[in-house]
Amino acid sequence: MYDTTNVFWKILEGDIPCTPIYETDHIFVFPDIAPKRKIHLLCIPKGKYTDFSDFTKNATKDEIQGFWKGVQDVIRSHNLEDQGYRIISNMGSQGGQEVPHFHIHILAGEPVGPLVA
Ligand code: AMP
Repeated sequence: MYDTTNVFWKILEGDIPCTPIYETDHIFVFPDIAPKRKIHLLCIPKGKYTDFSDFTKNATKDEIQGFWKGVQDVIRSHNLEDQGYRIISNMGSQGGQEVPHFHIHILAGEPVGPLVA
């Protein structure tokens, strides 16, 4: 069950401020409030999906295609492909997910380090 009190839904609704980086019908991208690397962006779909599994099982083809195209557009527009980057999606309690709205972290701008600290 999707929880509309989560912080990313409030950002999408305009109830919590952020600095938009990129937006289409299917994706919204903004900086992480507590960046773990020089570049730390969050990519979220506009629909109510709790996590990666929910999104990939239940989103429409247009939503899925539009979301990943947006992720790629942001990676390209920030010139991240030459130096490299990491994308992460935490899912559920053991995956360390804090905010129950599906999101992708983009970490870049300096060496990201080991996969798991
Ligand atoms: P996760 O642990 O994968 O659910 O990641 C949630 C991320 O959301 C964390 O990296 C937080 O720093 C970030 N976060 C929480 N609140 C905000 C906010 N208001 N604006 C931007 N990022 C946020």
